[in-house]
Amino acid sequence: MMMDTIVNNLSEWPIRIDVELLKSVQNNLVQAKISNCTLANELWYLKQFMLIRMQYVKIFDMLKNKQYSEAWESLAKIENTIIMIKDTFEIPQIYHIDYILEYIHKIQKFYPYKFFTSREEIIKEMKCGICGTVVNPAKSCGHEAGRVYCGVLCTYEITKLDLISLAIVENPYDKYAVLKLSDKEHNYDLLDFLMNGLSDAYEEWDYMEKQVPKPEFKSAFMNKPCPCGSNKKYKHCCYGKEYTLMPHIEVIIKNPKKKLGDNIIISNGLWKDKE
Ligand SMILES: [Zn+2]
Ligand SMILES: [Zn+2]
Repeated sequence: MMMDTIVNNLSEWPIRIDVELLKSVQNNLVQAKISNCTLANELWYLKQFMLIRMQYVKIFDMLKNKQYSEAWESLAKIENTIIMIKDTFEIPQIYHIDYILEYIHKIQKFYPYKFFTSREEIIKEMKCGICGTVVNPAKSCGHEAGRVYCGVLCTYEITKLDLISLAIVENPYDKYAVLKLSDKEHNYDLLDFLMNGLSDAYEEWDYMEKQVPKPEFKSAFMNKPCPCGSNKKYKHCCYGKEYTLMPHIEVIIKNPKKKLGDNIIISNGLWKDKE
């Protein structure tokens, strides 16, 4: 029975990509849409889990090849899909989807993307992707966006909206709108450092955020002049002050297959000058 084969494939870790199986899920889904809605819905979810797992492995290769923005978009896409599915479906633990979501968030943390543009808008009119009915926030067609109807995901297409403003935000509703500067480029040192230490997409790793002394304060002596140049003794000047510290991220790889280098790394900022 194909169902068992799919569930077995989804339970495998490390992920084994089976293109033929995906094709047959796709074909069966097309059939089931006509004849068996319950089966169609089930196949739709299983197909998503297969795609999520495949995409997760692809992202690792993208990052190894320094395709940072492509990888970022894929990360956001999988993240959105998983969060949406969790609303309507209890995902079996054994598919490792929660694990993937956790690692998506960890990888995102290593990106220098901290600012995003965000649109403030008023939606005036939308069209239901299932029945084609034009709806507005006050009038619904009965289909709910994010639900699956007979093997088809319901989405709403916005057909009329009023744009109110554009803002720069740190926690965007959608992570696609990364803020870019014309004369600077993003600094991917932190992400590169992480990727250099990882051998494959299944390696378990974690990180710790720390505060450590800035280089100039690292070897300051209590009774010697303060590195800030005040001519006061360090202990009476900058000692213990917050501005002498800077953020570090320490990467911990569970069973490293290769040497990570100096395990404590310093972020050199989010941007560098364009070459
Ligand atoms: Zn509808
Ligand atoms: Zn000082």
